[in-house]
Amino acid sequence: MSDAKTRAIEAYVRAYKRHPDHIIRAPGRVNIIGEHTDYNDGFVLPCAIDKDTVVAIGHRDGNAIEILSCDYDRRDIFSIDADIEKSPEAWANYGRGMVKYLLQSGYNLSPSRMSIAGDVPLGSGLSSSAALEMAVGRALIEQSGHKIDPTDLALIGQKAENQFVGCSCGIMDQLISAKASAEHAMLIDCRTLECSAIPIPQNSALLIVNSGITHSNSDGAYNERRAQCEKAARHYGVKALRDIDEKQLEAGKSGLDHLSYRRARHVVTENARTLAAADALQDNDLRELGQLMQQSHISMRDDFEITVPEIDQLADIMNDAIAQYCDGKGGARMTGGGFGGCVIALAPREYMDKIIDSIHHNYSKNDDKQLEMLISIPSTGVNII
Ligand code: ADP
Ligand code: MG
Repeated sequence: MSDAKTRAIEAYVRAYKRHPDHIIRAPGRVNIIGEHTDYNDGFVLPCAIDKDTVVAIGHRDGNAIEILSCDYDRRDIFSIDADIEKSPEAWANYGRGMVKYLLQSGYNLSPSRMSIAGDVPLGSGLSSSAALEMAVGRALIEQSGHKIDPTDLALIGQKAENQFVGCSCGIMDQLISAKASAEHAMLIDCRTLECSAIPIPQNSALLIVNSGITHSNSDGAYNERRAQCEKAARHYGVKALRDIDEKQLEAGKSGLDHLSYRRARHVVTENARTLAAADALQDNDLRELGQLMQQSHISMRDDFEITVPEIDQLADIMNDAIAQYCDGKGGARMTGGGFGGCVIALAPREYMDKIIDSIHHNYSKNDDKQLEMLISIPSTGVNII
């Protein structure tokens, strides 16, 4: 039994003196390739990781929802008859937002009580927030005797996070946490929300290395990149950069400033790489996938300028180790918004220890103790356990 599941059940029984009616889990995620493509209506290729947020839920008398957080040791209670307002406690707003927008979407919710516990590292770019939204939302649906389409659940989660928590995330995190298949990545078309499950080659695994580096102005840099992409799309006369390919990018570049051109080049080539990566996975071709991941990193470094030297060094060490030990089968790149965060490698599982040894041996930033490493295989989306 996962640690989060044990903690959620034990806390429920301790607090409410009875057993929960349902236990629900939802996973965190990493993005294998497709960075800063989501808000350009493009493609992303994430997979769910085997770290979950778990919700234990049962009936509550009255007209309120009660949520107990094991990780913060806090409790939130609010009525479902009155308008749901923001809590001063950040963690509580994910649950409140889910309740608010499920009700608004026409789902009558039963008064319930929940306990939540998570194994997804908080605030590390592995999307503990979407895991929390999907687990709470699905738990409320289950407890209230409804059914919900997973894409609708994801959209309600995104709305909760955008409008209630106040974080302007795309739809990737919620969609993958809601819809992932075990041992598969998922190609998402961020314009149509069409999702295709793509098998991860057998015996491969993900190594997720959290650099521990955060950038104080990453929100500002994110907004700046978005604005540059919108400017480039206007220059090319299209709705979004998704609508041009590399040929059109080159043919129409005159009159566009060089910086915006380079930003656009990242997005246009990254979309093409993401589609090619899905094909490579489908063909079981880890070598081709690895090349695409390396090119993605270089494009983020040189054209989109969202990496930092420590992250570049980590990616280089991991790619060198893959070349040396895995015969080039696999690759590494920064994942997430940039300026720190995580570097991932997808490579044969049997060589994960070699890659980790290489990192310890070669990484020169301060000390490597601030690195957190996690080996994961792609897990399944939100479900009842
Ligand atoms: P990420 O999604 O990358 O982990 P975010 O800042 O988007 O980072 O979300 C992290 C926040 O989500 C936490 O600070 C907390 O408010 C909330 N959260 C996530 N998981 C839990 C949990 N298990 N229990 C309570 N709150 C959680
Ligand atoms: Mg998040």
